[in-house]
Amino acid sequence: MARAVDVPALVEGIRDGRRAAVARAITLVESGRTDHRAATRELLAALGARADTVRVGISGVPGVGKSTFIEALGTILTGRGLRVGVLAVDPSSVRTGGSVLGDKTRMPRLAADPLAFIRPSPSAGTLGGVARATTQAMLVLEAAGYDVVLVETVGVGQSEVTVAGMVDTFCFLTLARTGDQLQGIKKGILEIVDVIAVNKADGDRESEARVAARELSGALRMVHHRGRGWVPPVLTCSALQGTGVPEVWEQVLAHRAHLGPEGLADKRATQQLEFMWALVRDELAQRLRHSPAVASIRDEVRSAVLAGTLPATSAADRILAAYDAGAPATGPLI
Ligand code: GDP
Repeated sequence: MARAVDVPALVEGIRDGRRAAVARAITLVESGRTDHRAATRELLAALGARADTVRVGISGVPGVGKSTFIEALGTILTGRGLRVGVLAVDPSSVRTGGSVLGDKTRMPRLAADPLAFIRPSPSAGTLGGVARATTQAMLVLEAAGYDVVLVETVGVGQSEVTVAGMVDTFCFLTLARTGDQLQGIKKGILEIVDVIAVNKADGDRESEARVAARELSGALRMVHHRGRGWVPPVLTCSALQGTGVPEVWEQVLAHRAHLGPEGLADKRATQQLEFMWALVRDELAQRLRHSPAVASIRDEVRSAVLAGTLPATSAADRILAAYDAGAPATGPLI
């Protein structure tokens, strides 16, 4: 994309639901280039936001069956005439530069479905960068007429919290485990999750899955006993066979009904605010990393801290003072 971006043409293409335009727009919003960021702002302002879309996060450890589940759910939804977008937030792509999640080859049926659009995780350098790209890609898909956006993420580190912060309903897939059923689930997950499904409830594992679901259900009741009123339901499903998957979707819709139109609008507005601060933090961290003034003292300060001759607090002051002295006073932040 060396030439200037023709934003009005892109807007028209997206509104017409043309796949090539959607793909081009997502590439644009994923780009970190300054001119692309300006074009992105213009594009998103022109597209506007839709309130009637369904944004669902799908998380779980590698191998739990996320892509199989998304393939099954996505196919059910397109079978009902809904247009489905699939996006991904892959923290490993941040480190390795590769992206695994949302890979089309892992969802062959959905990838060939004219009502679906699958986009793998961008590798935008930081989780914040990936989150920004994914949030903006979601807006592009919605403007192009996609009714449901499924955002896949791996149950690692901050990525779940990040995805929970960009969707209406956050689903967590888990497996039945023998012994302590909660072992595999971080406590923080129980606080942000809206729907849980114990996957691979088929064959020999079916009854084990039901027991796990009951135990988890009890644990959730403890966590949410005087919360916001929605106690996340725990279901069992087999993504492979498709059983229980429509029921998970029912619960996504039930969660939505629980929020109500106003609750949903509030949730999205609050997410925007948090997203704004996340963008600011991310941008500041980037600027700190790229500041020549900081770079000029970084090694010296590092050696002094390691040698024990400079306390960490004074060292932090010096870094920040160097940054402030070298930073331009004004200019577009993001
Ligand atoms: P992901 O890493 O979470 O995306 O997991 P995948 O969807 O790639 O699934 C990992 C493996 O588990 C694959 O071999 C799937 O065929 C298998 N799998 C996924 N869902 C189920 C299920 O419901 N039942 C069974 N028996 N296997 C499943």
